[in-house]
Amino acid sequence: ASPPLPGLGARALRVRYGGFTALDGVDLDLPAGRVTAIVGPNGAGKSTLFHCLAGTVRPVRGTVRFGARDITRLPAHARTRLGIARTFQQLAVFPTLTVAENVRVGAEQGRVRDAGAVERTLRLLGLDGPVRALPAAGLPTGTLRRVELARALASGPRVLLLDEPAAGLDTAEVAALARVLRALAADGTALLVVEHDLDLVAGLADVVHVMTAGRIVASGPPGHVLDALGEAAGP
Ligand code: ADP
Ligand code: MG
Repeated sequence: ASPPLPGLGARALRVRYGGFTALDGVDLDLPAGRVTAIVGPNGAGKSTLFHCLAGTVRPVRGTVRFGARDITRLPAHARTRLGIARTFQQLAVFPTLTVAENVRVGAEQGRVRDAGAVERTLRLLGLDGPVRALPAAGLPTGTLRRVELARALASGPRVLLLDEPAAGLDTAEVAALARVLRALAADGTALLVVEHDLDLVAGLADVVHVMTAGRIVASGPPGHVLDALGEAAGP
């Protein structure tokens, strides 16, 4: 058997913004081949946790590991090279570049040189038609989300971090997204999904963590955790 792929793990993360504690002792594991979801109200610290894993926020306490390696102090671009890719809650594509050029930028930031990555990724996300030659500026949100996901995937990630990937998508687009993400997990990628859309989470995640006020307050399979949330919220 091949050795297990490295996953990402965080221990005892603490983040402060000035005098405000945004993360207060958070542990999280993102195993290879699994979809892990984080849900919780606005301001709970979901994006802050996401940024600690991506390398764009530095915790004052705690560690982030990738496999056996301590990456707590590694900057974001170096994490991308190791195989930790991300998308942005506010879409971040290059507006003047075409769809295919945006995806090529992602491939160049990745962990391996892979000549086929751009074409494969465009196909996987249904961006291999005429849209590939269009500038990103002016494309509909659903298409831009796919371009951004394609940019992240073209880097050949072992870990994929997604902050609100379903924001602005219609039902059919969310279903298509879920299919792509499940296929990635089946291939061994570790996925993190920070998401408001509980239907997407219920259909996609292996494990759900609920965050409130900088802590993880409940964890488990989606059926269990999301039912408990619904009961807490009342009828
Ligand atoms: P979520 O993604 O769950 O909505 P965030 O991680 O964005 O939560 O924010 C958690 C808390 O930290 C919020 O109270 C937010 O106002 C605060 N916060 C987030 N980023 C900053 C920052 N750069 N400076 C100061 N406070 C921040
Ligand atoms: Mg957020």
